[in-house]
Amino acid sequence: MSSPAPRRTVTAIAGDGIGSEVMTATKRVLAAAGARVDWEDAEAGAEVFRRGIATGAPQETLDSIARTGIALKGPLETPVGYGEKSANVTLRKFFELYANIRPTRELPGIATPFSGRGIDLVIVRENVEDLYAGIEYMQTSGVAECLKLITEPGCERILRLAYGLAHAEGRRRLACATKANIMKMTEGLMKRVFEHLAPEHPDIASSHIIIDNCAHQLVLAPEQFDVIVTTNMNGDIISDLAAGLVGGLGVAPSSNIGDDAAMFEAVHGSAPQIAGRGLANPTALLLSAVMMLRHLDDFEAAEQVEQAIYVTLAEGRNLTGDIAPRGQGAGTDAYTGQVIANLGRRSDLASRTYTALRLPQWPAETWHREPQRRELVGLDVFIESAATPDALGASLAEAVAGTPFALASLSNRGAQVWPPTGGRAYLVDHFRARFRGAAPLGEAEIADLLARISAGHRWMHVEKLQQFDGVDAFAKGQGEA
Ligand code: NAP
Repeated sequence: MSSPAPRRTVTAIAGDGIGSEVMTATKRVLAAAGARVDWEDAEAGAEVFRRGIATGAPQETLDSIARTGIALKGPLETPVGYGEKSANVTLRKFFELYANIRPTRELPGIATPFSGRGIDLVIVRENVEDLYAGIEYMQTSGVAECLKLITEPGCERILRLAYGLAHAEGRRRLACATKANIMKMTEGLMKRVFEHLAPEHPDIASSHIIIDNCAHQLVLAPEQFDVIVTTNMNGDIISDLAAGLVGGLGVAPSSNIGDDAAMFEAVHGSAPQIAGRGLANPTALLLSAVMMLRHLDDFEAAEQVEQAIYVTLAEGRNLTGDIAPRGQGAGTDAYTGQVIANLGRRSDLASRTYTALRLPQWPAETWHREPQRRELVGLDVFIESAATPDALGASLAEAVAGTPFALASLSNRGAQVWPPTGGRAYLVDHFRARFRGAAPLGEAEIADLLARISAGHRWMHVEKLQQFDGVDAFAKGQGEA
């Protein structure tokens, strides 16, 4: 027999609304299962915002997680009208919890249109990059921009985690889902890193799937999937979609994993309509705690709790109102008591076999790779203008006459509008002027170009057009040769 997992202290953040009810239930079940966990209670969410702490998470809570390295968290309200940020996002970003893991398994006794299909998949979502970096601007009074940042090390670590998870959970197939067909640089980077890493795992059948087809296939034949790894926004959407296949957010667990900390949380919110009434279903937080116990190598307690939940759901006694047949719902306490009474029993649905997930520690220094050759070949200048493309083109061409730059094209929301292509683009006051230049180009030439443009135009954004080792480091505009 393996030696028992060591006792671990876990930061417990009950959170808002039904949070304290589902947290109390979860602690009761874990204690009854003999889980080797001690709790350190900490605060986050609405009350913290009310006290004027704009992050929603006080320093003591951050200190507690830094100390314990593990948090179990209930739902946190994101207040509308005060407070700067989501406390959930604060916690994920503060501890660089780069992986969001969302298992989706058909649960016994929970009838859905997909019952009987044997759905058992896990979505691994990159959790800190992409559009969710929150870098946004109003570039004109009616044109908004959000930067989608995808990094090579960010892709590598989420893909390595996904493969590690596949091995730890005995999974055989991994699909990397991206929108690389449209966003060739950003989503394409995830695909390229995936194609580089996949051959390291010959025992896992790896494939790439376009994210929209992935959503389509998830509804048509969800049982085909095992591990899906994807970028942040794609993962946000398909993980909720997947939860809907097996009973919804109310029974969906999740984990957020980083190098130094991990946070386990139910996917649902604070359900304010039922808060304080003893009606909340604690299954999602309980299943999140099961994930936590496995993360802590307490596989025995994890399986015991998971099996007790499966037995309770399958037998249908004392289920909470959200999952019980109409009019037969029990309260949180009765359901929790039923799960405890079922500890030690085995369900017809076996738990998967898990081994420890071992992850590489990522180096602390700033990632950088210098290309052997770097050339500046032009400049994109984004200009606010109400002029026609012809008038703007003529004026910009004149402004840069005599410099090493020439105006190559104007585009509006990504579509080329000058020189005209014959296409029809609805025009807004936001043009990208693409200037191509003859080498050698440098900072002085850029400064001169911008000074000339500024004399007659309002620009709000600039991007260098570079080549790294002879390869264009920028995308062509739609319609651009
Ligand atoms: P929600 O709290 O998940 O509630 C939606 C509905 O789902 C509830 O009204 C309730 O339905 C049902 N429900 C959810 N969890 C349940 C449970 N454990 N047991 C029984 N029923 C449950 O979503 P929301 O109303 O959109 O969000 C409310 C607040 O939660 C917002 O402030 C939001 O920002 C926050 N939120 C936090 C998180 C998080 O911390 N991770 C996630 C999502 C939302 P009935 O009304 O039919 O009973």
